[in-house]
Amino acid sequence: LAQLFRPLDMLGWVYRNVRQGLIDMEAMFGIVDTEAEIEDMQGAPDLIVTNGHVRLQDLRFGYDADREILKGIDVDVPPGSMLAVVGPSGAGKSTLSRLLFRFYEPTGGRITIDGQDINKVTQKSLRAAIGIVPQDSVLFNDTIGYNIGYGREGAGQAEIEAAAKGAAIHDFIAQLPHGYDSQVGERGLKLSGGEKQRVAIARTLLKDPPILVLDEATSALDSRTEAAIQETLRNVAARRTSIVIAHRLSTVVDADQIVVLDQGQVAERGTHAQLLRKNGIYAEMWTRQQSEREEEEAEAAE
Ligand code: ATP
Repeated sequence: LAQLFRPLDMLGWVYRNVRQGLIDMEAMFGIVDTEAEIEDMQGAPDLIVTNGHVRLQDLRFGYDADREILKGIDVDVPPGSMLAVVGPSGAGKSTLSRLLFRFYEPTGGRITIDGQDINKVTQKSLRAAIGIVPQDSVLFNDTIGYNIGYGREGAGQAEIEAAAKGAAIHDFIAQLPHGYDSQVGERGLKLSGGEKQRVAIARTLLKDPPILVLDEATSALDSRTEAAIQETLRNVAARRTSIVIAHRLSTVVDADQIVVLDQGQVAERGTHAQLLRKNGIYAEMWTRQQSEREEEEAEAAE
């Protein structure tokens, strides 16, 4: 009888893996029609993460040959530190996160992790080392517990709850009539953008990768949700190298290093305080976002 079930088990395994791969891709890039398949080099070794030191060296990339989007980016992200990437819409921020996950390969320069060129290692090992929290997380039509638990195969209920607590979503789940067994997705509970992102953060906490790439949701959040997300971001970024693509500058005031991308180049870099003193693009973005926030708060108070 066991033999009869083995192929079925195998099918389940393949299905889960293919599905996980698809979901990661879809969630991350919002597209399924992947153009060029990236292939591993023959005999490529696995990535071996020792410290999580990420470096971008003269990184260049264009989706089309005649239009360069990233024009020679040099950034050093020391192990365990947080890099925030900010800048105007279309600057190339999300493109950078796609290259880190090797959805595309650079046309020039390289990305290394602990000295290994990410193009020269297996994609499987690269993707196992990086936890991605995409802008718009896709949830399965399944229970909320399942949606968190798939971050790590075989995770028990206690671990799922611990991750949910770390992502500040446990209290929300606990007050649902069916708790962790509540169905989410099209045929179940609809979650807000902020809640979905926290589910994705819980999933990543469970996966516990040495490197984190977080593409912040662009959707406007009320200040309470924003504060909760900031808190969870601090939890998830602790003890690992983190790269945060940020739309709200308030999210990244504590980052070790902020890089301002503008038209595919690093226009400014420094800490929040240093960049404010510079009185350049960052300072201007900060002043604008602060006054927008004040207006919103004044409207909300009316
Ligand atoms: P935003 O803050 O609006 O998310 P961004 O800084 O993340 O912007 P990217 O999404 O990296 O910007 O896009 C950079 C440029 O690359 C844009 O001009 C965009 O039109 C172009 N681009 C993005 N994706 C593709 C694609 N799949 N094919 C061709 N061009 C693309």
